Amino acid sequence: MIIVMKPGATREQIETVSERLVEMGFKTHPIYGQEKTVIGAIGDKKALSSEALINLPGVEKIVPIMKPYKLVSRELKDTPTIVRLGGVPVGGRGLVVMAGPCAVESEEQLMAAARAVKAAGAQVLRGGAFKPRTSPYAFQGLEEEGLKMLARVREETGMPFVTEAVDTRDVPLVAEYADAIQIGARNMQNFRLLQEAGATGKPILLKRGLAATIEEWLMAAEYILDSGNPNVILCERGIRTFETATRFTLDLAAVAVVKENSHLPVIVDPSHSTGSWRLVLPMARAAVAAGADGLIIDRSSTVLRHMPGPRSSNIKAFRA
Ligand code: PEP
Ligand code: MN
Repeated sequence: MIIVMKPGATREQIETVSERLVEMGFKTHPIYGQEKTVIGAIGDKKALSSEALINLPGVEKIVPIMKPYKLVSRELKDTPTIVRLGGVPVGGRGLVVMAGPCAVESEEQLMAAARAVKAAGAQVLRGGAFKPRTSPYAFQGLEEEGLKMLARVREETGMPFVTEAVDTRDVPLVAEYADAIQIGARNMQNFRLLQEAGATGKPILLKRGLAATIEEWLMAAEYILDSGNPNVILCERGIRTFETATRFTLDLAAVAVVKENSHLPVIVDPSHSTGSWRLVLPMARAAVAAGADGLIIDRSSTVLRHMPGPRSSNIKAFRA
């Protein structure tokens, strides 16, 4: 439910309304707009005494939030959220490119990839130190060593970095080093992980589950906002369909649907969705055309071999 305050309502009036809501058992989330302040109230509607609220000074109206997700909803907040990842704003008018190797393998490999993606126009470095692998025999990541390498490369290149936490046990360590914590597709509905990562206050890059509906994805983001952290970046990374020509099916309509229903920034991963470096550029362009706030691109050592040298024209093309 949303309590809309009258234009010019005083801070004292807003606080009084918040206090009454807390007394009724609600969690409150005031959003201070340029003209009006609204207070998001999350809790059991049955406990609400709307008469007592509507008569408080400064209250204009009480509006229910129809969607199952509340804090991430545009019904509550109509202006786009801008998440600051290191110094880089994600959301709003700009386009952010995050890029780097799939997994951190060595400092040399990471530094080479970081330099290449920076020269190509990327503003944020990505790289996994904890990898969510289908096979237990695949390389699982360098863990803290990898995080240290990411931190040294950040120092050297000035690029903030995002990296994944695959388990609640990794969260404190990842939060110690990273500028943003990635929650991978396979963990989108690991609710304890969402809460613990959210509680660090770090920006969270929340990838869409490979079999998750848009509503389930937004409900997962709701867990993070409910933990008191409004800094969530959504990432469409493809879903499972009957199609086998690509690794997953990149659902670009999801970008437009999310934009319509949520104020959170949304970026697109053309690498993991397609599984083919040849498809990265066309899908990156399509993502930007669909309204994405940014891209996250794997530039593994294999891709580097296929694409020698900085490709600044590629990144510039994403912006066109
Ligand atoms: C990744 O970005 O490193 C990754 C594993 O992606 P996803 O969780 O989308 O598969
Ligand atoms: Mn990868």
